[in-house]
Amino acid sequence: MITTVEAVAELLAQAERVAVLTGAGVSAESGIPTFRDAMTGMWSRFDPAELASPEGFARQPAMVWNWYAERRAHVTKAKPNPAHLALAEIERRVDRFTLITQNVDGLHQAAGSGRVIELHGNIRRVKCSLDGQVKEEWAADGEVPPRCPDCGGHLRPDVVWFGELLPARAFQEAGAASVDCDLFLSIGTSNLVEPAASLPWTAHRHGATVIVVNPTDEGQRRGPGIQYLLGNSGEILAQLVSAAWRKTSEAAHP
Ligand code: NAD
Repeated sequence: MITTVEAVAELLAQAERVAVLTGAGVSAESGIPTFRDAMTGMWSRFDPAELASPEGFARQPAMVWNWYAERRAHVTKAKPNPAHLALAEIERRVDRFTLITQNVDGLHQAAGSGRVIELHGNIRRVKCSLDGQVKEEWAADGEVPPRCPDCGGHLRPDVVWFGELLPARAFQEAGAASVDCDLFLSIGTSNLVEPAASLPWTAHRHGATVIVVNPTDEGQRRGPGIQYLLGNSGEILAQLVSAAWRKTSEAAHP
């Protein structure tokens, strides 16, 4: 079923517990390409599994490091768009708000979101491939990839690769928020990558209204009771925030 900004704004203004899941589409208007779109030029000859798996990294650590270094440079230059800013605003307005992201770009934090559950890690951090210690900073002027100053292992991006488990605590918190919300917004994700893809269905099973925000409802997993708000998330979320809280102030000052 296709819904409207006005109808969702009404739900948002009334909801006490809101959970949001975002995917690569939420950063599209910040110019961050999807994984597939980033595989252009010299990268087009590589298999994604080689660039984003522990086995690929073990085989060609410098190549994988360089691919992520290029993406990291792109991401750090990008700016949050109106969708990121609207979600930071919703966090300020709703008492019990949980933002869950599959993105690794850090743009929710850059927009001012205080608490972000990162299911797939963050490309701006690295971790040691041997001892697993996460690092916010590292020496980038020597060996590629750099070595862990503590154990000498290769540093790698702190992201979840094919075949790896999601961070257990993050996934457990995301599941709990999905079970315990009135309204669940799934924004800019194709909802195909498990286990994150199941979160909207978990929310729906536990009685939440589930709204999918996406330019298209094609290619989305379908199910009864899921409502679609069609459009680009930057535009739609900005409209949603202004409609939701215009309604509240009209109710308070009729
Ligand atoms: P996806 O690439 O599978 O799907 C992106 C979705 O966004 C599509 O359904 C598309 O229709 C929609 N979309 C495109 N433009 C949009 C817009 N302006 N507004 C709203 N929606 C829009 O992305 P996914 O579901 O997140 O899964 C891909 C995986 O790749 C994830 O695991 C994610 O971690 C990773 N990834 C992250 C980033 C990032 O951090 N920005 C970028 C690429 C890939």
